[in-house]
Amino acid sequence: MRHRKPRGKPILVCPQCYSMRLIYDAGLITGQRYHCLRCDYVGSLVLEFDDPTQIPPEKEWK
Ligand SMILES: [Zn+2]
Repeated sequence: MRHRKPRGKPILVCPQCYSMRLIYDAGLITGQRYHCLRCDYVGSLVLEFDDPTQIPPEKEWK
């Protein structure tokens, strides 16, 4: 998968609820993945934003 490298650190956003409250889990077997503290999403797929103004508003959750 070709992905253009952003210059700065991208802002990671949960793909499920658009929260930025993600923590990084580095498992030896499972590999890298993220855990969302807001909706409990766990997975390696997260959204990355260079520009904070492009982040969609957080979804209602629960
Ligand atoms: Zn979430």
